[in-house]
Amino acid sequence: MGRYTGPVCRLCRREGLRLFLKGARCHSNKCAVARRDGVPGMHQFRRGKASEYAIRLREKQKVKRYYGIFERQFRKYYAEAIRKTGNTGDALMSLLERRLDNVVVRLQFAASRPQARQFIRHGHILINGKKVDIPSYLVRPGDQVSVKDREHSRNLALENQAADFVAPVPDWLDRISTDPPEGRVSRLPTVQDVALPVTPQLIVELLSR
Ligand code: SF4
Repeated sequence: MGRYTGPVCRLCRREGLRLFLKGARCHSNKCAVARRDGVPGMHQFRRGKASEYAIRLREKQKVKRYYGIFERQFRKYYAEAIRKTGNTGDALMSLLERRLDNVVVRLQFAASRPQARQFIRHGHILINGKKVDIPSYLVRPGDQVSVKDREHSRNLALENQAADFVAPVPDWLDRISTDPPEGRVSRLPTVQDVALPVTPQLIVELLSR
């Protein structure tokens, strides 16, 4: 499957919640979820009661769209989560939360995950002082995440940090300094650290069929 290039607000409307794919607009009353009822499409009011399968499928789609990943990548995360000890659903969410593009948003360097991915791809982000341009890079406890010491890079991050809509930095990350923008991973994230309202167990039930 290729990259989704259609209207992203449609994805949020399909899931019935804000997936924060656009930055500032997502926090305003222009957000399509706040303005329009129902799922997108012609037959939105004809849909009957969701089946057990449909409920589980929606949970999976919600997570994939929130983190901006495709089915194949998602299956890889799931395969890795199975290999870990403890609850598979919790391990899956922890892996997704550790993605570098997510960390860049959670540290307030970028306004949305798509912006964070571009930010990383363009070489603005450093891990322990070295450039990392892979948005799916999984951070580890102790990793230092910073913005390249260049005026343009710094200004982009500072602008986002100063925005009034940014969510607070979660517990599992530490803000070392605002200018230059720098943070550290203090521990591995747990399912409680995930900001998205989701039931990982339903995803596991779907994928283990
Ligand atoms: Fe669009 Fe953002 Fe609202 Fe989603 S949360 S519908 S991307 S404005």
